[in-house]
Amino acid sequence: MSKRDYYEILGVSVESQDGEIKRAYRKLAFEYHPDRNPGDDEAESKFKEAAEAYEVLRDSEKRTRYDRFGHEGMNGGGGGFQSSEDIFGAFGDIFGDIFGFSQGRGGQRMQAGSDLRYNLTVSFRDAAKGTEVELTLPVTEPCEECDGSGSAPGTSPETCSQCGGRGAVEQNQGFFRISVPCPSCNGRGQVITNPCSECRGAGYVRKEKNLNVRIPAGVDNGSRLRLRGEGEAGLNGGPHGDLYVVINVQPDKVFRRQGQDLVLSTEISFVQAALGYKMSVQTLDEPVDMDIPKGTQSGEVFQLRGLGLPYLGSSHNGNLLIEVKVKTPTNISRKQEELLEQFAALEEDKPMKKVKKLFKKAKNKVMGD
Ligand SMILES: [Zn+2]
Ligand SMILES: [Zn+2]
Repeated sequence: MSKRDYYEILGVSVESQDGEIKRAYRKLAFEYHPDRNPGDDEAESKFKEAAEAYEVLRDSEKRTRYDRFGHEGMNGGGGGFQSSEDIFGAFGDIFGDIFGFSQGRGGQRMQAGSDLRYNLTVSFRDAAKGTEVELTLPVTEPCEECDGSGSAPGTSPETCSQCGGRGAVEQNQGFFRISVPCPSCNGRGQVITNPCSECRGAGYVRKEKNLNVRIPAGVDNGSRLRLRGEGEAGLNGGPHGDLYVVINVQPDKVFRRQGQDLVLSTEISFVQAALGYKMSVQTLDEPVDMDIPKGTQSGEVFQLRGLGLPYLGSSHNGNLLIEVKVKTPTNISRKQEELLEQFAALEEDKPMKKVKKLFKKAKNKVMGD
């Protein structure tokens, strides 16, 4: 019998994204799950077929190989589950999602570790330039005393009498007859009669661990860094969860952030605005000189290219925007006043131009400019 196309098996298109493929697979896995179709060989083979297709399509490397070479490309590299147990081993997380638990080898309850979230506050400059921090995390690790079994050394757990070691019991739920974790042994299939004194039978202990985390330059408030496998330990061979570091960036006294652009507000005198002025501008590194041109208006924004924040995973930077506010003097000397009056007198020589300009401004305001 020739093999069916993996995309066809899952009922997805070649362009499908990971999420869609996962959803399609979950649906099929639920439908053809052996627990729901006891003794149905066709359901079981469909279940295996779907699992094989999913195993390839969820992995970008295998998927690319399959797209290019078809089933031929898969020989020797993945695909082909021998038993349902292999499937449970490979996709414990999905079955955990569907059935609330999953079976590990030997009837032991396999469980993926929990994801952890760590809220990390970093300074504006550290977020801009990147930094490395050491986090102290609470973690559960397998107990060393009992090697994670939960039984006191030298003793072993007994087979659960309620489920006969299966770890699951059948239950009617609506139309379905499904397996649920055995309430007597919590799905372990075994009961600990002599609990380990170190972990009191849990099989794991709470500890703290230190982890160095590199914070990439350019992270923003609310950025999430995912550290695969740094979450809590799984149970009975289940995979570790992930660690999510959620970044909180403190505000800065000098800069504001607008995407990857930095904004800096600065005040200049009306004389500097009128005559032009060379000013020194703070940046994330060394200050730079910038020319404020003659006739600069209050609120004008100047741009220094590339002096903003780096775009994550790219060598490009945003810009530094300098927002100029023109300050009107409030406390001027008699001499300055005289000079300004002379200046005003000169201005009055060209009244028409001034009125026109004012009119234009007012009109722009009304138009919402
Ligand atoms: Zn222990
Ligand atoms: Zn049991």
